[in-house]
Amino acid sequence: MKLEIDEDNVLSCPACGEQYTHQITVYSMENVNDSVGSAPLITDFKENRRKINPNIKMPYRGNSIVIKFWCENCDKVSHLYISQHKGRTFIEFIDHEAI
Ligand SMILES: [Zn+2]
Repeated sequence: MKLEIDEDNVLSCPACGEQYTHQITVYSMENVNDSVGSAPLITDFKENRRKINPNIKMPYRGNSIVIKFWCENCDKVSHLYISQHKGRTFIEFIDHEAI
């Protein structure tokens, strides 16, 4: 999903386009199998826990940092990924169930 950022560098909600998004928590996702689509080892910094989640798929071969947002306008929960693949960095929203 393409990011929308205005001239003041404010990120918009990917569902409704409004700017009132709130960060819920931050995760790291380690690609322990070094393959696209594998289950990541997730570290939840708010809950201070680590676990493999088979319901989530790694989008690239490298690791990801994920910021979980909630939009006060449309109530959508979104996941903003910063990921690596072969030296390239990808920043995008990826839809899935809660981590
Ligand atoms: Zn929204």
